[in-house]
Amino acid sequence: MKKNKLTELIKETIIKKNGISVSQYMKMCLTHPDYGYYTKNRPIGLKGDFITSPEISQMFGELIGLWIAQVWLDHNKPSKFSIVELGPGNGTLMADILRVTNKIKGFHDSLIITLIEISPALKKLQKTKLKDYCVNWKAKLEKLPNVPTVIFANEFFDALPINQYVVKNCKWMEVVVSLKSFINPICDEFCFELKKISKPPLELSFLEQTEDNIFEISIELKKNLSFILNHLNKNLGACLIIDYGRNNNIGSTLQAVKNHQFSNPLENHGECDLTSLVNFNMIKKYSQYYGLKVSNLVDQGDFLKSLGIEQRFLSLSKNMDPNQLKMHNKSLNRLINKNQMGKLFKVMGIRNKGSSPLIGLEV
Ligand code: SAH
Repeated sequence: MKKNKLTELIKETIIKKNGISVSQYMKMCLTHPDYGYYTKNRPIGLKGDFITSPEISQMFGELIGLWIAQVWLDHNKPSKFSIVELGPGNGTLMADILRVTNKIKGFHDSLIITLIEISPALKKLQKTKLKDYCVNWKAKLEKLPNVPTVIFANEFFDALPINQYVVKNCKWMEVVVSLKSFINPICDEFCFELKKISKPPLELSFLEQTEDNIFEISIELKKNLSFILNHLNKNLGACLIIDYGRNNNIGSTLQAVKNHQFSNPLENHGECDLTSLVNFNMIKKYSQYYGLKVSNLVDQGDFLKSLGIEQRFLSLSKNMDPNQLKMHNKSLNRLINKNQMGKLFKVMGIRNKGSSPLIGLEV
């Protein structure tokens, strides 16, 4: 079997450091500059490992496009308006947003478009798809123009590395990725282990210590969020986060997906997607702490319905043949049905206090 270079690199690091944090492990697997999953692959779509809402139907991007244009209108059509997408994947969402808003007078002329993308392979794809537009690329969130802004992300936060902690015998420990060979020299596999830590991260130190529960924390998520919240404190505008998540951080949610199926997160390094559930409660608390308005957590299905996905579905249906209609129906179901992405995926909006309430998220 061909040796996986990333597996060898991770092993070396584990041996050197006597185990690595889950976040360092995820970071190496997902975004290692040479062998990371996102760095070298084009994982999104039917032929890839997983499919996302904008890839399921154009309706998703169209509605998000109108949502963003509404924020622009609510600010009295500013002559400069910054839109920033985090983790744009294949570029489909941005392409649909720009196509659907093309006829809104003055909107495109006002746009400063920024894509935050770490992957050279996906950036190339985005460049082709968005070749008709003037777009800025950045590998991480930094220096944005100080004008009214919408920052949005679909399935970006779930891809950020997390650390895991647990209380054992009244002591906080960190979950680390280690090697079974430390115990049994002939066993060549990776494993999770617990490592003593001198003290838990600040947000855990206030928690009641309950034995054996895993708590997840993402420093990367907090870094990105702080940037967004600072920006929205200084500038009018909003942030739209769509992801699969929950309202707490208790229990391990680390998962791997390869070829549209769950796989073992400790195998196939750089060949499968690793994600965790986003802790929306933390995002809400943090946003409030920064003095911003934050919406409740809304199911993706309800959000898309309130933006008019069923009406859009009908109008697109008109010229379809039976086969197309069948697919179209399936796509709608996938996006809004409670047993599919409609409930699993959540939407949260954050805005500057001086901006108008956000459509579909605030009453
Ligand atoms: N939003 C897209 C793709 C989601 S997949 C869609 O809905 O189809 C996650 C995306 O985030 C990919 O584009 C990936 O390359 C990017 N990404 C992952 N980690 C990142 C990081 N740390 N910094 C910037 N981009 C990252």
